[in-house]
Amino acid sequence: MKLETLAIHGGHIPDAGSGAVAKPITLSVTYQRESDGTYPKGSFYSSKGNPNRDTLEACFAGLERGHTAVAFSSGCAAITAVIRAALKPGDQVLVPDDLFQGTVRILRDVMPKWGITYRMIDMTDLRAAAAALTPQTKLVWTETFSNPLLKVTDLRAVAKIAHQAGAVCVVDNSFVTPALQRPLDFGVDLVVHASTKYVGGHGDVLGGIVVSKENSSLIHDVRQIQLLEGAVPAPFDCWLTHRGLKTLPYRVRAHSANAMAVARHLYGHRWVKKVFYPGLESHEGHELAAGQLNDGFGGIVSLQVRGGRDAAVRAAGYVKIFINATSFGEVESLIQHQATSPTHGSGTGIHDDLLRLSVGLEHPDDLISDLDQALTRAHESARDKTA
Ligand SMILES: *Cc1c(COP(=O)(O)O)cnc(C)c1O
Repeated sequence: MKLETLAIHGGHIPDAGSGAVAKPITLSVTYQRESDGTYPKGSFYSSKGNPNRDTLEACFAGLERGHTAVAFSSGCAAITAVIRAALKPGDQVLVPDDLFQGTVRILRDVMPKWGITYRMIDMTDLRAAAAALTPQTKLVWTETFSNPLLKVTDLRAVAKIAHQAGAVCVVDNSFVTPALQRPLDFGVDLVVHASTKYVGGHGDVLGGIVVSKENSSLIHDVRQIQLLEGAVPAPFDCWLTHRGLKTLPYRVRAHSANAMAVARHLYGHRWVKKVFYPGLESHEGHELAAGQLNDGFGGIVSLQVRGGRDAAVRAAGYVKIFINATSFGEVESLIQHQATSPTHGSGTGIHDDLLRLSVGLEHPDDLISDLDQALTRAHESARDKTA
């Protein structure tokens, strides 16, 4: 079956008991045991598995073309589970220099206590990646497209480099989702998602998912962390995330089309210094992205504003349709000044005139005129101040 069909039917058939077509939400914590001591319907205690989580995991595994999916209560819980399942004291993780700051914070502030270290390199430079591997490197983590600079990493090459050194290769696929890119097809071992973003799609539910290509001992260890430590999504969270999954391919296609229109408009714009969008032919990773993704280049566009930090901060404040807020992947368009965002923060080496746009599902003409008025006003108020 194709992606759109799997998204709607994967892991779910109408309810046998009631005939309900939409999946019922099963809130029960505990499940009845048969007189012979078995649990023929599969569940026995909610943190160890329930119908809503089972459906979400089965559907997601199908979309990523993986063997097993394991759901967590947030993207960060999923990331932490993978790091701890894959590594032991003395091991090192290789990570790219542009990546989700939550992953950096986990590696920098939590893991050292457990003897796990990390090294950061530009992973678009394959020679640098190969040279950075040591006998202690047991995990190569990558994110493509990267957050927030939209760098494109060659998944097939990075997976090969990792495997040659005996390391596991993991990709955070939150930015583009299986609707556009399926890393397991390129030899990657595990995919991690913040389903909080495009998968949930409406900005109303946190979640994380790990998908494994094989029925490996690694995914078994991830499952053990899920089952024993209990950082699991509630049944209603699973239901919301699974509902989002059903329309994921269509939403992501529309996000991509809108983002392309916005990026084209901003490219060469008088108040814009640089646009970062892999769909533009001028982007250095364009060709690689075109070969690795199908159906579009995703919904995130970053830009450097002319006039520096102040102009960027002001532009983010002057929008009327975009919302000045962190996160991405929901129907509403969001704008964020990276360097002052509480989730990104200063001192991360990010350009201080950088804005990240999550292009939503409003009409692209309205989004473009909103950005035009915000950028113009930001520029005019700077001129008034210096006059
Ligand atoms: C948001 C995000 C996460 C973490 O997700 P939470 O559900 O907020 O914990 C992980 N990776 C990427 C790329 C993200 O953008």
